[in-house]
Amino acid sequence: MTRLPKAEAGNEALVSAIVAAPAGASFTLHGAGVSGGIAIGYAHLVSTARLEVARYEIAAADVEEEVRRFNNAVAEVRGELAGLAAAMPPSAPAEMSAFLNLHLMILDDAHLSQLPCTAIRTRRCNAEWALMQQMDLLVQQFDEIQDPYLRERKQDVVQVVERLLKAMMGTGHAPKTPASEETAIVVAHDLSPADMILFKQHHFAGFVTDVGGVTSHSAIVARSLTIPAIVGLHHARDLVREGELLIVDGREGVLIVNPDRRVLAEYEMRSRRMEAERRKLKRLRSMRATTLDGAPIDLQVNIELPQDVEEARDAGATGVGLFRSEYLFLNRDDLPGEDEQFEAYRKVAQMMDGLPVTIRTLDLGADKSVNGADRGGPNPALGLRAIRFCLAEPQMFMTQLRAILRASHYGRVRVLIPMLAHAHEIEQTFAILAHTKATLDQLGVPYDREITIGGMIEIPAAALSLGVFMRRLDFLSIGTNDLIQYTLAIDRTDDTVAHLYDPLHPAVLHLIANTIRKANKAKVPVAVCGEMAGDTAATRLLLGFGLRQFSMHPAQVLAIKEQVLRTRITEVEPVARRILRTDDPDRCLALLQKLNA
Ligand code: PEP
Ligand code: MG
Repeated sequence: MTRLPKAEAGNEALVSAIVAAPAGASFTLHGAGVSGGIAIGYAHLVSTARLEVARYEIAAADVEEEVRRFNNAVAEVRGELAGLAAAMPPSAPAEMSAFLNLHLMILDDAHLSQLPCTAIRTRRCNAEWALMQQMDLLVQQFDEIQDPYLRERKQDVVQVVERLLKAMMGTGHAPKTPASEETAIVVAHDLSPADMILFKQHHFAGFVTDVGGVTSHSAIVARSLTIPAIVGLHHARDLVREGELLIVDGREGVLIVNPDRRVLAEYEMRSRRMEAERRKLKRLRSMRATTLDGAPIDLQVNIELPQDVEEARDAGATGVGLFRSEYLFLNRDDLPGEDEQFEAYRKVAQMMDGLPVTIRTLDLGADKSVNGADRGGPNPALGLRAIRFCLAEPQMFMTQLRAILRASHYGRVRVLIPMLAHAHEIEQTFAILAHTKATLDQLGVPYDREITIGGMIEIPAAALSLGVFMRRLDFLSIGTNDLIQYTLAIDRTDDTVAHLYDPLHPAVLHLIANTIRKANKAKVPVAVCGEMAGDTAATRLLLGFGLRQFSMHPAQVLAIKEQVLRTRITEVEPVARRILRTDDPDRCLALLQKLNA
C-alpha cells in the first residue's frame, strides 16, 4: 500500500541545522515514495518560477543593485525575444511572430518594465516580488475586459513575467542544464501535471518535489515515467544544492543528500538487486494472466499520450483501460482541434490492434487546466471538473466526441465518462453524443455504431447509487484515486493531509467491494483503474472482492501479473470477506498480510 510521509515534528530545527551546515554535508529527508526503484545521480534544481517568489527586504545600500538586477533581466528577455523573432524560419506560422511581437510590447509596457523599479526603491522589496505585484494588477485589469480574446491575453503577460523571473534567477544561482540527463535528479518545489508531461521528453534519473500527494496527477505521471520519485519532501528545493550527489529511494520515500561511500555502496547493491528482479519479471510478458484456479484476469493499462502505447504493448497489456485524454490539452496556448484529436485517438486504436481502447473524455479542472483557464473555482477538486466542465462547454465536448467517434472506425474504442454523480449528467452526455452521431451521419462519416459508453465510479454518491449507473451504462471503471479523495475528504494534491489518504479505510473498501459485487451480479463489466489497481499489495484483496479487470500504468503490469499467477481465488475470497467485516485498522492490516503471505 501507499507509503506516507514521515511526521514533520522537529523539522524546522532540522532545516536550520542543514542550512547552517557546510556544503557537502550529508543528510536525509523523508517524503512519500511515488515511484519505486533507486536512482543515484546529481541534483538539478528546477524552478516553476512563478510559484516560488518569496518577498524579502533589500538593505538601503543594495537598492540600486537590485534595480540593476531587474533592468538586466528586462534587457536579457528583450534580447531573447528579439533573437527568437530573428531566427524564425520563413515557413513558421504568421501567428508565431505576432506572438513574439506582442510579448515584446508587453515587456516594454511601463507596468512591467518601469513600475517594479519604483516599487523596489520605495518599498525596498526584492525585484521578483515587485514584478509579481505589477503582474497581479495587470492580470486583474485583463480579467475585467469583456472581449474573451483580449481577456485571454493575460496569459501572455504571465508568460513574459515568467521569462523575467527566470532571467532574474539566472543572474543569481541559475540552475544549469545538467551535463547528462541520465544522471540528473530533478529537484523542484512543485511540478504540475503539465510540467511532468513535458519531462516525458527527457531521460532524467529521478524526481523529487516538496509538495504533492501520492495520487496527485503529477505523481501519477511521474510513476508512468518509471523512474524513482518522491513527493512531499517539504524542504528539498531549499536545502539541496545544484550538482549535489543524491540517492532517491522511491520505494521508501527517502532522499539521501551527499551520501558517504558506505551508504552509496549499499544503495548501489540494492539498485542492482531491483534491476535483476525487473529482468526476471520480463519473462512473464507473454504468459496469460490466469489465477491458479483458472480465472482469466484482464490486465490493461492507463496512458496519458499516444506514445505511451508502445510501452503498453511491450508489457503485454490486454487493452487500454484508461486513456487520460486531457493530457493532449496541456502545455499549449490553443485547444487541439477535432482532426488533431482524431489522429491521436486513431493512432492508439490502430496500435492496439483490435484490443479495447478506453478513451476517457476530458477530465480537466482541479489540478489540470488548459493554459490560463481558471482552476475551477474556490475549491477546484469540488468544482467544475471533468464531466461537469464538459457539460458546461458543450462545443468543446462535442469536438472531442466527434474525434472519438471517428477514431472508433479504426479499432475497438470505448468511451469513459469521468466524475459522474447524477443520472442527468449521463442523460445530457447521451443527448450530446446522439447529436454528435447525427452530425457524422449527415456527412456519411463512418464510426462504430456499437460503441460502448462507460462511467467512472469515483464519487461516493455514484458508488452508493449504482443502479442509476448500471441501468444506463455499458461498463464501469472504479477510480480509486478520486473515490478515496472524496470519501475521506482529503485533497489528493495536498501533502499536508497525505497521511490521511488510506485505501484500506473500511468506508473505502466497502464502496469498492460493493461496486464490484453489484456490477458482477448485474453482469456489467467493472474494472479498477485508480492507482490501487497497480499496487501489488492490493491485488489479492481486489481479486478476493471479485475484480477480474485491472488497469494500471504499464510499468506495473508484470508485477501485478506475478501476483495473479500465484493466487487461488478460492483462498483469497474468504480472507477478503473477513477484511470487509472488520473496522479495526490493525486487524485489517494483519489480515492483509495474511492474504499476501
Ligand atoms: C481515479 O480517480 O482513480 C482515476 C483513475 O482518475 P484520475 O487519477 O485521472 O483522476
Ligand atoms: Mg479520477
